[in-house]
Amino acid sequence: MLQKSSQFMREANLIGGEWVQADSGATIDVINPATGLKIGTVPKSGKAETRRAIEAAAEAFASFCKTTALERSKMLRKLHDALMDNQDALAELLTLEQGKSLTEAKGEIASSAAYVLWFAEEARRAYGDVVPSPWGDRRILVTREPVGVIAAITPWNFPSSMLSRKIGPAIAAGCTAVVKPASQTPYSGLAWGALCEEVGIPKGVVNIVTGSAGEIGDEICANPLVKKITFTGSTEVGKLLIGKSASTVKKVSMELGGNAPFLVFDDADIDRAVEGAVVAKYRNSGQTCVCTNRFFVQAGVYDRFVEKLADASAKLKIGPGLDEGVQQGPLIDDKAVEKVEEFIADASEKGGKVVTGGKRHELGGTFFEPTVIAEAKPEMRFMKEEIFGPVAPVFRFETEEEAVALANDTEFGLACYFYSSDLGRVFRVTEGLKYGMVGVNEGLITTPEAPFGGLKESGLGREGGHQGIEDYLDTKYVCIGGLGL
Ligand code: NAP
Repeated sequence: MLQKSSQFMREANLIGGEWVQADSGATIDVINPATGLKIGTVPKSGKAETRRAIEAAAEAFASFCKTTALERSKMLRKLHDALMDNQDALAELLTLEQGKSLTEAKGEIASSAAYVLWFAEEARRAYGDVVPSPWGDRRILVTREPVGVIAAITPWNFPSSMLSRKIGPAIAAGCTAVVKPASQTPYSGLAWGALCEEVGIPKGVVNIVTGSAGEIGDEICANPLVKKITFTGSTEVGKLLIGKSASTVKKVSMELGGNAPFLVFDDADIDRAVEGAVVAKYRNSGQTCVCTNRFFVQAGVYDRFVEKLADASAKLKIGPGLDEGVQQGPLIDDKAVEKVEEFIADASEKGGKVVTGGKRHELGGTFFEPTVIAEAKPEMRFMKEEIFGPVAPVFRFETEEEAVALANDTEFGLACYFYSSDLGRVFRVTEGLKYGMVGVNEGLITTPEAPFGGLKESGLGREGGHQGIEDYLDTKYVCIGGLGL
């Protein structure tokens, strides 16, 4: 089974173009969540290895920043092609370490490639300005320059595509990078190193270290050579990194936690809403930052929606991601399952009704049944906390104002969704929702052309869209005098 993906499976770190082990020789075991068995190991690197990776990136930056936008665009196009040419092998590796179905893993690789292609195109459009000068004898230019070495830290739920949104704009802008993938899914991150080598991206432009999160993070934050940190992960760790990087005043981009609401109004197309709900809830077994955490359904359609959602949830095929036709794989680990069980117990104690699912799947391990809980109440834990699992709590509401207020009653503001066929309501509700991304009559909205990112404690900055390259560029104002005009 490993044969197809093994060409990309690296059990070493990439520093300055060399594949190396941790100084101490220490390693981290990587487990297949579908079987609980060890797949292999990766180095447990720390401060010293990270410092060397940063220095290698700084050295590479000296020449990489002088490449033309067209040259970098061509590199990214090759990287896109390499991703797509090896989609099956990369997807298999992703499923092995992460658990998601092979169909979703292939989709993630395609999404990674799409982001890389987008930034290949954006590389050539990082325009500056010529500003009308207030002085007759002087001219004003505003130019864009790469920020320098950037550091990227990514989570386990999208181990490939979260990196594409960081490596893509970094290379497009002319930056060099030090990357730290999540310890539970390091192979898909390390595979980017193999791909970069294959397509001839210069040594030291992309460096990848795995290991102790605290040590690697501390070195990244404290090292003045790093000019920007881009992080995707929990709000808790994001806050820590913002605080620690203050000492060296770095740029920060943060893609943090979510608590997505999904509103269904009486005037909605219920079948369409259920279809969108299944995608927005169960993708990656509910383990995405944009997964619906709370369903709010208007009283007139509440029972019908719950019944249809429960039916659709019960039909999902659960199993190891590599098996044919599987739609939902295991959760990432035991802790994730325990958290889901705690949320369900809390809801049941407070009057919630489990309509379908509610327990571990008969397959054992970390497989969990898709679960719908009716009669959800604001005092239940999932009103405030990210579930990160296949549980759909459904709250009942009466009025539009009440629904918007409930949806906004969270410190998060990443994605939200709502279903309505009333045009006036579509605009009112869109404008009332305090979220960075709104899906109207759509449950799946991520695409490289659009800016992905959150408000409030869900983050800072945007990935994708024309905004996605901004944070990798510094703005320089040039006033040219003495022109004798
Ligand atoms: P996490 O615990 O914050 O970990 C994310 C990354 O940060 C991992 O690489 C982790 O390394 C590293 N890390 C942990 N502690 C660190 C520290 N002290 N210093 C530096 N790095 C540190 O998050 P997760 O559980 O993997 O991911 C789930 C979270 O990510 C959810 O909250 C989800 O909403 C969020 N997410 C957000 C987006 C978005 O675009 N907004 C996308 C996907 C996920 P180790 O793996 O070695 O611990």
